[in-house]
Amino acid sequence: MIQLTSADKLTNAINKARTVKPLVRVNAFGSYTVTNKATGATYAVECVKRDGSRFASCTCKAGERGQACYHIAAAVSAHIQLASERQAQTH
Ligand SMILES: [Zn+2]
Repeated sequence: MIQLTSADKLTNAINKARTVKPLVRVNAFGSYTVTNKATGATYAVECVKRDGSRFASCTCKAGERGQACYHIAAAVSAHIQLASERQAQTH
């Protein structure tokens, strides 16, 4: 589980995600499947909010070591978009 403290931590991962352009599928709010279209590698990413902090986890090797990987970066950007759409619906 990685705490997403600031965008800085994700900068490298975001840049990699922009290059790789993985496919992000939404399973449920906070649960995503990220696929590298070139290799077919698929990982599960979870985003949770706890005590006002955001956390994310990924099933890839980097994610299991607690590193911010591009799967998390890709899923988090989808998650943020989804969260803002949800908020727009309730207001
Ligand atoms: Zn990953």
